[in-house]
Amino acid sequence: MNKQASAADLQQVIMSISDQLCATVDNDYDIHISVDTDDIHGQKLSLLINFLLENVRRHNRELLQLNEDLEARVKERTEQLDMVISGSSDGVWIWDAAKDSVSFSGHWYQMAGEKALDDPQSPEYWLSRVHPKDVVRLKAAIRAVMEGSKANLNAEYRIRHQSGGYRWMLCRGVCHRNEMGFPKLLAGTQTDITYLRSVDPQTGLPNEHYLKERVEDLLEANLPFYTIVFTVRQLSSLTESLDQQSTEALHQEISQRLLDQSHFTRLLARLPGNSYALLGQVSEGDNPHDQLQIECSRIQQIFNTPYHIRGDSTQLLSASVGALVSTDWENLTVEEVSKGTWLAEKTARQTGKVCIYNQALHQSHQRRLTLEKELHLGLENGMVKPYFQPIVSSTAQKLVGFEALARFEHPQMGMISPGEFVPVAEQSGMMCDLGNAILRGSIAGLKRLKATLPAAAELYVSVNISVLQLMSEQFARQLIQMTDDIGFDRQYLRLEVTESLFVENMEQAVQQLAQLRAAGIGIALDDFGTGYSSLSYLRRLPIDVLKIDRSFVTRSHEDESNVAILRTVYDLARELSLEVIAEGIESREELDVLNSLGPMSLQGYYFSKPLPEKMLGDFLSAWTKGNSPRQPQADTKTAPRQQTRPSS
Ligand code: C2E
Ligand code: CA
Ligand code: CA
Repeated sequence: MNKQASAADLQQVIMSISDQLCATVDNDYDIHISVDTDDIHGQKLSLLINFLLENVRRHNRELLQLNEDLEARVKERTEQLDMVISGSSDGVWIWDAAKDSVSFSGHWYQMAGEKALDDPQSPEYWLSRVHPKDVVRLKAAIRAVMEGSKANLNAEYRIRHQSGGYRWMLCRGVCHRNEMGFPKLLAGTQTDITYLRSVDPQTGLPNEHYLKERVEDLLEANLPFYTIVFTVRQLSSLTESLDQQSTEALHQEISQRLLDQSHFTRLLARLPGNSYALLGQVSEGDNPHDQLQIECSRIQQIFNTPYHIRGDSTQLLSASVGALVSTDWENLTVEEVSKGTWLAEKTARQTGKVCIYNQALHQSHQRRLTLEKELHLGLENGMVKPYFQPIVSSTAQKLVGFEALARFEHPQMGMISPGEFVPVAEQSGMMCDLGNAILRGSIAGLKRLKATLPAAAELYVSVNISVLQLMSEQFARQLIQMTDDIGFDRQYLRLEVTESLFVENMEQAVQQLAQLRAAGIGIALDDFGTGYSSLSYLRRLPIDVLKIDRSFVTRSHEDESNVAILRTVYDLARELSLEVIAEGIESREELDVLNSLGPMSLQGYYFSKPLPEKMLGDFLSAWTKGNSPRQPQADTKTAPRQQTRPSS
């Protein structure tokens, strides 16, 4: 063939090459192209094609090798994963979003006590096994992960077990998405947490969760029952001094004694802190209150013998017992049962007697809740104000000052006493606001009185302070600032504190009171004689005034022992150079007893009840003119033994 091949020859070459290349359609690249031609272009084409084929073969070999490696790795990982899954007690599930089907591992089925199925199931298969009350929560958790608002699935729910009842599961999972960001797979594990959720690890007793579920069962089945909550009184202080091991041993002994009571066929549960609970179902025809009484006395029995604490030492324990009987109430919820029983226990703690939740307790709780809400509004709207109770001196028969007493003037609930709302304010975090309102109102009120009546120039106001106010480190500084802002001479301000303040926070209280005293403010120890006063203790307190509690004054003329106490307290105060104020004088006879002790200041209904600010002017005028019906008479029987300290 000459070098210039004819078109027919070239066509022949191309056809021959394309015939040979047909094998590559079936992925066979293991061929060699040969052409029978002298044409240089034909030969070049066949050479290039062979080169190309060789490249394809080489890449194919590489790909094959890579694939083999990959398969080996996948196999190894799958085997490892299978090992982990079969070794753990967790169930595994994989939700295919496109097919909307879920595959479960063998363990998953076992957890529900069911036979394992090979085929994937519908999501409804899963949800139909979940407790009806948990379905909505689980669905919402899954949706949140699918939609991407939550990165991980973490949900607790109950799964029905084939043998009856439910078991608690913890389900964790993640979502895999396609390139468009749509969910592709949702996969994770399911762990049985029934034991963890239901058992107190320290004692092995059922815990509060479990108890609530059983109460829920009884409420749903409309079966009568009672619940008891009891707290071991001494444990909170004991556990502070005991190590963890001794505390655990003590709890184990308590729970063992409770379990040893052969009568304890009821459910016994351990609650948080140092409390336990009993749930008893009442049989038909039995009186639940009778059964409850029997159970309560059994609880008391386990505290009749001392408990062992660390080796040989023993300790007598006791419990405050509160209870609730379901048949006393209608349409109870689990939360109401729990709250009611706890409220009864709280009352038992205060009274020292077994307490059963009743209407009176329920109503007082409701009132407390209302009061808390109203007090909040009342403080914002200036409805909490100080009233002023006059304090007079026994020697000069003149008015020396006032005690400011908080009053809540509620438009519907009427006048509410501080004995009721101060504890509410303390427990609900409103005490500092309340205290500030009273301090400001008292100081500003007395300042106004001084500005209008010259006779008020030397009068002081004495304001009650709660422990919680002094716990704020800023208290002293802020109060001094307040008097400066109002422009009030601090020598006419006193604060009344009780001993509990020092018992709980000695150092901080002493420090702040000393700071206030240095700024000219007087400090009175209130309700003296009702606490744990000791002479050495009294000496260390930064105080100027002792207020003798009303309980020693009331009917003192009829009770020799009260007179003896009054005399001792009076002498003690004088010994410590403290001014004395006697509180709660209601009669001429009581006044005579106090006058027989020596000079002091006096306060009580005999002179005046606490008065609103607007009545102070009239009271003061009447007193100054000697027109007050309760003004002390000049003919006091006993001459003063000592001179009263100046009141400021
Ligand atoms: P307290 O400080 O011992 O106040 C004396 C209480 O005895 C007042 O009761 C007063 O009205 C009452 N009282 C006074 N004279 C007589 C009397 O002759 N006979 C009788 N039966 N009672 C008399 P009130 O106002 O109900 O206050 C009760 C307690 O509430 C006060 O006892 C005080 O501890 C507390 N409190 C009152 N106001 C405040 C306050 O602004 N802050 C704080 N933290 N506590 C306050
Ligand atoms: Ca007081
Ligand atoms: Ca008092």
